[in-house]
Amino acid sequence: MRCPFCSAIEDKVVDTRPSDNDQVIRRRRECLGCSRRFTTYERVDEILPLVVKKDGRREPFDRAKILSGLKKACSKRPVPVEVIEKATDQIERTLEESGEKEIPSSRIGDAVMAALHDIDDVAYVRFASVYRSFRDVNELMTELKQLVETRGRK
Ligand SMILES: [Zn+2]
Repeated sequence: MRCPFCSAIEDKVVDTRPSDNDQVIRRRRECLGCSRRFTTYERVDEILPLVVKKDGRREPFDRAKILSGLKKACSKRPVPVEVIEKATDQIERTLEESGEKEIPSSRIGDAVMAALHDIDDVAYVRFASVYRSFRDVNELMTELKQLVETRGRK
């Protein structure tokens, strides 16, 4: 960090402490050139919410995970990669714009389901069967029935 007094770039951190509910780290630095002290603030450069897992653990939003999940569901299906990437972007943007600090992981699962529903029936059912299996098999059957009925009307 360049010293605001003498522009030297060497400094040492003399004190580090969190502020603003741990959202910001405040570092007190001492310039190795002129020995004067200054303060820097460090914050996470993203506004994506943390993902709260079923067991209560929090983990950072992972775009790669969504992308690979979608790709897996769409494997050997006539779905262009651009479509999958666009869907991933859309999910990420929606979460970003929600402005929430934390979201349950089920919200991501639901968002992926909704995206696949529009992309490819087989991919949707593939993902749904895995995703829903953690909840209720009957739900999957209802889902499949509805899907068949919806397509039948077209
Ligand atoms: Zn200095």
